[in-house]
Amino acid sequence: MELIENFRRKSIVKILLRKIEESLLKNQTYKIMEICGTHTVSISRFGIRSLLPKDIQLISGPGCPVCVTSQGEIDSIFSLINQKDLIIAVYGDLMRVPGSDGKSLLDYRGMGADIVVVNSVLDIIKLAKSTDKNIVFVSIGFETTTPQTAYLILESQRLGLSNLSVLLFNKTMPEVISLILKDKNLKIDGFLCPGHVTTVTGVDIYTPMIKNNKAAVVTGFEPVDILQSILTIVEQVNSNNFSIVNNYKRVASGEKNEKALSMIEKVFCLSDADWRGIGTIKGSGLRIREEFEEYDASKKFDITFPKYTDKYGCRCGDVLKGYITPKECKMFGDVCTPENPFGPCMVSNEGTCAAYYQFGGEIE
Ligand code: SF4
Repeated sequence: MELIENFRRKSIVKILLRKIEESLLKNQTYKIMEICGTHTVSISRFGIRSLLPKDIQLISGPGCPVCVTSQGEIDSIFSLINQKDLIIAVYGDLMRVPGSDGKSLLDYRGMGADIVVVNSVLDIIKLAKSTDKNIVFVSIGFETTTPQTAYLILESQRLGLSNLSVLLFNKTMPEVISLILKDKNLKIDGFLCPGHVTTVTGVDIYTPMIKNNKAAVVTGFEPVDILQSILTIVEQVNSNNFSIVNNYKRVASGEKNEKALSMIEKVFCLSDADWRGIGTIKGSGLRIREEFEEYDASKKFDITFPKYTDKYGCRCGDVLKGYITPKECKMFGDVCTPENPFGPCMVSNEGTCAAYYQFGGEIE
């Protein structure tokens, strides 16, 4: 607790803001992307955008797992609802994401569908042990949560659980980072890199950023972490000298987590993946290896994936690519609110639209 207080201390925040202000070059703007949804929420929650000088622009990126899950992937979950003796297990964030018919898993649960919210893969193992029904776990997320799904499959195999399978929508960071770097519309100067992803991947995945003359700063999730990293990015842009800096050493060593990566490697292989609003990105998703196919729900239940079609009117894709802020979507705060979300960026706790709605986003 004391540690968190230190990273929220007003006096340190003020010093960092002053240092940032003093470091800015005349006629220079600084475009900084926070890739991950957890950063988006922290930045909005602590009002960091409104504290920063106007020459610093913070742009939200495609790092909210629920938001980037394509509509086709979401709709495929609903195809399981009428299966007899089957329980769908999800993390809470997925419950309110609307399918193409406008109904969510929460709505279907209200109508009697067997859907449970779990907090960890250990909950799922416990559930599978307690019933003869089939359990399908819908797995989404990036490198931070993927090892847990790999563990779930390995542990199910070890325990001989034949009633458990996984609908896998996990995605990987490096390919989408490459896409952002190639995007001529964005022109990012530096990145706040996700501290939690780094605990698994290590810092090497950010090398393409510095090769493209962008700052890459691994960042924690408290105001002092974020401001410290913004200062680092400003200094690198000013000196035109770019390197990967790890400002989150208290949690992420910067090295790869070999144990977690070897579990991922054992159970999954790379495949193409559909990203909401972005489309198919080659090699940016995962598939369950054949040796573990009995745990692959898509094969076990012969699930087909409707081709992704984003909901007409929802501009989540443009929000996720950093092209617009949520307030530039006509639906924002009117048709689309957290109570009545039209798109996934308004549903998820880590969604940019939800963060802007709850905490405000930019300087008006
Ligand atoms: S405000 Fe709603 S409709 Fe607009 S982009 Fe965000 S989630 Fe989609």
